[in-house]
Amino acid sequence: MRATKSIKQKIPQNHDLDSMMEIFRNMVNHCIKIGLKHNCSTLKKLSILSYHDLDSQGLVTSYKLNTISQACGILAKHKKLIRKGKNPKIPHVTRPFLTNCYGFKINNSLMSIPYKPRQPINILLNDHTQKILSDPTLTVRSFTMTGLNISICVSKETEKIECTKIVGIDRNLRNVTVGNDEKVIFYKTNKLLSIKQNTIFARAGFKRNDHRKKLQYYKNLQQRLQNRTRQFLHKISKQIVGDALTNKTVIAFEDLKGIRKMYRKGNNQGNKYRKKLNGWQFYELQRQIEYKALWVGIPVVFVDPKRTSKLCPICGERIQEDRQNRRKLLCINCGKSMDRDVIASMNIAHKAWSRFTHARDDTGEATSELFSRMMEPKSSCYGDVAIQIVDVSKCGWKG
Ligand SMILES: [Zn+2]
Repeated sequence: MRATKSIKQKIPQNHDLDSMMEIFRNMVNHCIKIGLKHNCSTLKKLSILSYHDLDSQGLVTSYKLNTISQACGILAKHKKLIRKGKNPKIPHVTRPFLTNCYGFKINNSLMSIPYKPRQPINILLNDHTQKILSDPTLTVRSFTMTGLNISICVSKETEKIECTKIVGIDRNLRNVTVGNDEKVIFYKTNKLLSIKQNTIFARAGFKRNDHRKKLQYYKNLQQRLQNRTRQFLHKISKQIVGDALTNKTVIAFEDLKGIRKMYRKGNNQGNKYRKKLNGWQFYELQRQIEYKALWVGIPVVFVDPKRTSKLCPICGERIQEDRQNRRKLLCINCGKSMDRDVIASMNIAHKAWSRFTHARDDTGEATSELFSRMMEPKSSCYGDVAIQIVDVSKCGWKG
């Protein structure tokens, strides 16, 4: 398997780079125009149509194919939207950027980017980037520049780790539950809600009658919110992938789809409730875990979220809501009451196990040890689960 990652660093202001980014943007827009005119979005066809037009723009030849491929991506997205019956705007790149996968070199602390024939621009890489790039197993694939940032894309070949167990991850608004029938870990995410709430207060606190300043202020706040949320989730995802690597476990997720549709206007929900749930970044944790797990060779699988918190993980019977505590669920058959997130994570692990470790033909026989153990009614099963609660905001780890 090939795993990819990118390293981002700041670069000092450089007029030559700025002009290159501006030219690159114009070239992409030029290609988009040609693509729209001839109604094509394939690399081959667009290359034939626009390759020689790009000669006069002033960039080195190595950038030309990248421009065309960028334009192809944008055109394909545009076509897809039209196919879906939407009415998208005419595509146009507004921000200057530069990307290339040919002709650049990295030599210890210097990265040279083609600028004019035999006259490259050198960029000084910082210690962090140098440290990562010093790994001989990595291959540098491309770089992208936007504003004062450069990201270098690296990839490596990873080998899949043979796993013996599986953990299910249940994502909720206030916690992330990771577990199987042996151990359950709760990661509290209450902090994310308070970060979000603080941002809303800060937005409301802007009183100046200046539309331009207001937009800038909102944009900065949004960026800060995103950075803080990501940083917080990075701590959790790092811990989860680290645990999975030491215990050799497969990670199973619910394949959540259509979450935003559930909290639309007109669904008989309150304004505040909808705002809270629509601000929930459920996908970010999955994205981080997916790439981190791929990087170390841990498989990530997805299961259908249907009925994960409706069936008992021990006997498979339908369970009821506990009347005393709404976060708990009660199984009449086993006579046990358990937290609904613990049940969900156990069910996800169970579902993934039965689906991905057995071929579909012999599902009739419960061959695996875990499967048979989970199927036999065992009253002490819930008692065996060790539950650990982790509050990331109080831990001193660096993400
Ligand atoms: Zn039961």
